[in-house]
Amino acid sequence: MMKHKNQIQMIFDVWEENVGIARVTAASFASQLDFTLAELEEIKVAVSEAVSNAVIHAYPKCEGKVELSMMIEDSSVIYEVRDHGIGIADIKKAREADFSSQDERMGMGFVFMESFMDRVTVESVVDQGTVVRMVKSCSPITLQ
Ligand code: ATP
Ligand code: MG
Repeated sequence: MMKHKNQIQMIFDVWEENVGIARVTAASFASQLDFTLAELEEIKVAVSEAVSNAVIHAYPKCEGKVELSMMIEDSSVIYEVRDHGIGIADIKKAREADFSSQDERMGMGFVFMESFMDRVTVESVVDQGTVVRMVKSCSPITLQ
């Protein structure tokens, strides 16, 4: 059987409004697989958390680019959110619930990504940037 493959990349400025554009684009990309509406909502939340982290945390001077790569491989969708910002010194700590480097934030972004996607990996180098990779598989049998 021929493997289903597809890819889209978008590069945008760190601007709050672009989080919403990334969010709907991520969901419409995933809709080529048979995800349920609830799963598409989960994808929206996970991708917008990753993108908003890049927008909020990566560039203290609020200037820079974020790259969102979206891939379909068979029945899985893969998102990569990349920035070239300050990076994360302690990834393990950053991924913990309630940890935030900003007092007014809840520190729940990574927790949402982990609970809504099947796999989340984070690679980061201080002063070079961060890549968050998320995978979600679509089950072939949907009993609805
Ligand atoms: P919330 O998402 O609930 O508003 P938050 O963004 O602080 O709060 P997380 O999304 O879980 O919480 O991120 C935890 C911490 O990881 C952030 O406070 C920040 O210090 C760091 N972080 C996350 N993404 C990046 C990034 N792209 N660049 C630099 N630091 C990041
Ligand atoms: Mg966050």
